[in-house]
Amino acid sequence: MSNPNTEINSCPEPESEKYELIDAREALWNDQEIGPIQEIQKDGSCIFSVHAILYDLDPPHYHPTGIMNVGDATPQALYKSMVKKWLSHHPTLAKSEVRKSGTGLHIILQINPPITLGTSNLQDLWAEKIKVVQTALPIDPDQPGMTAVTRPIGSINSKNGAQVTLLKQGEPVSEDQINQLFEDMKERPFLTVFKILTGKERLSPCPICKTGKELVALDKIGKCYGGCGYVKLYQVYDLFLRPRGDKQKGV
Ligand SMILES: [Zn+2]
Repeated sequence: MSNPNTEINSCPEPESEKYELIDAREALWNDQEIGPIQEIQKDGSCIFSVHAILYDLDPPHYHPTGIMNVGDATPQALYKSMVKKWLSHHPTLAKSEVRKSGTGLHIILQINPPITLGTSNLQDLWAEKIKVVQTALPIDPDQPGMTAVTRPIGSINSKNGAQVTLLKQGEPVSEDQINQLFEDMKERPFLTVFKILTGKERLSPCPICKTGKELVALDKIGKCYGGCGYVKLYQVYDLFLRPRGDKQKGV
């Protein structure tokens, strides 16, 4: 929007509008309502169309000195140092929108046309599928699935007074592209996550035992030729995520 009258452009917003934006949330379902959390939050049984899937990433959840410098204090630094690369390593995640939520990052996969949930069976099915799709990134395990909300761009997060801003424009994905990510996570969970987080199918030296030997990603497990033997998926997440209880609460 542009206005030739610079005097009008420089006018501050009315205070009342600003207050309405403080801690506003944006639903990712039905009519994508924006408002106070207590007014827009819905139970899964009241969600009839899914417009987006959310990944909530907060810097305090990550090791301050992970194997790839994850854990920078600011959301922008976390995005630039790591998350930007993670998203580029999968064709569906590459289309994500990224918002600075205040203290953290909201990665949003916008789905167009939205997925229609016409029956309770479909609601249950997609509630489960979304949880699986969300494990493609090392999110807070306590993050809600289909019922997660984001914060609208321009709103204020009262936790630190920061404005929610757009860090990366996304483009909508299709239901098929969500299903592709779901199938990758179901059939090849270790390989899929390993490739997203490292961009590779093998790493040398193995970042877990650090014995100098190679770690190779197979479909469902990793194989280390050093001290680890077989490596499970949680061990890869643990390279990035702090242990539970050893983190501050984010957004
Ligand atoms: Zn190892």
